[in-house]
Amino acid sequence: MDTFWGPDFDALRREDPEIAEVVLNELDRQRGGLQLIASENFTSPAVLAVLGSTLANKYAEGYPGQRYYGGCAEVDRAEELGIARAKDLFGAEHVNLQPHSGASANMAAYAALVQPGDTVLAMDLPHGGHLTHGSKVNFSGKWFHTVGYRVRQDTELIDYDEVRDLALAHRPALVICGATSYPRLIDFKAFRDIADEVGAYLMVDAAHFIGLVAGRAVPSPVPHADVVSCTTHKVLRGPRGGMLLCREPLAARIDKAVFPFTQGGPLMHAVAAKAVALREAALPEFQWYAHQVVKNSQALAAGLAAEGMRPVTGGTDTHLALADLTDLGVTGRDAETRCEQAGIMLNKNAIPFDPEKASVASGIRVGTPSVTTQGLREGEMRQIAGLIAAAVRAGPAQLREIATAVSALVSEFPAYPLPSPDLVDV
Ligand code: PLP
Repeated sequence: MDTFWGPDFDALRREDPEIAEVVLNELDRQRGGLQLIASENFTSPAVLAVLGSTLANKYAEGYPGQRYYGGCAEVDRAEELGIARAKDLFGAEHVNLQPHSGASANMAAYAALVQPGDTVLAMDLPHGGHLTHGSKVNFSGKWFHTVGYRVRQDTELIDYDEVRDLALAHRPALVICGATSYPRLIDFKAFRDIADEVGAYLMVDAAHFIGLVAGRAVPSPVPHADVVSCTTHKVLRGPRGGMLLCREPLAARIDKAVFPFTQGGPLMHAVAAKAVALREAALPEFQWYAHQVVKNSQALAAGLAAEGMRPVTGGTDTHLALADLTDLGVTGRDAETRCEQAGIMLNKNAIPFDPEKASVASGIRVGTPSVTTQGLREGEMRQIAGLIAAAVRAGPAQLREIATAVSALVSEFPAYPLPSPDLVDV
């Protein structure tokens, strides 16, 4: 057998120095700053290896054992391994690893569970929901009648009484919980009871926190939901992509909704990379990692609070925190720009009942999956809170000084091993 199996950086450098430069510059950018975007992580070299492998060449429409193309024996094995690993890890009855992304997984879940025009009850976007939970600019808001529930103004926690009242008033066919910027645990049992009361399906969009479930750092939605939809690239630390978990009676509907209803051929390099990530997530180290992600996020939220940036809901139980900057008189948009100039990547984020429009926002969202993968702990989180506070308040001259401090901090925790020196000089 030939030893060539995939990534050949030298070939890329020879054939396309411009893109080779982009790849190396991006590695420098990821290593050189603080990556606090809550939906990002650093995949392992093993996951990257599979993504860059010749599995990318294979067409495999269909499912293992029932493909529309020949030559699928090896990719069948990869998909079967991935499915078995996900079933074990999450205690799920059925798994589909083919969704190209979280949004594709959600579209397939809608297709399996509801008809256009049906009523869907989901979290309002400004309160933490995702675009695919009913935004007017998304298929979900255009093709379904969506009703939004919110958080309470006093606690900033999901208002379960309001969820139930809305369910009884609108009789949705589908209830969705799971969010994009909600820092607290969700009471899946309460959602299950509400869905049962009105005869609705319950879908949990666990895109953000499925990695914490894998690492046993937060409760699992699997026993409560009809369908759990996920991304594989956030805390779970896999390749960019989606995944659906469901109960056996819905298995055929979910599979048909992914292929052929919403997708064509699966990305087999991504499916195999998901299998690698799922194996990694079942290791004891990953449980340590997931618990540390939460401890770090709690330490970061406390540090931001000490710097005058109020954590929404008073703190966090997960990998992310939302901070309200109103008391500092700085918008989320300005904070994001200043932090980026200081080498700190985070995003502006609406806070509940935000008086600013979404493109300005009164808050920032920070997450700890990437920095925890790098090995930073609570002590560094307190330092990071200080650096964020300094950047948010800083003028251009001070931003350069903060960037130097950021770079000194991250250089002690390199995101990846250094590439060999002859590759660096493009
Ligand atoms: N669902 C939630 C809750 C998300 O936060 C996201 C993305 O951040 C998605 C779905 C969509 O995932 P993707 O960007 O992979 O389509």
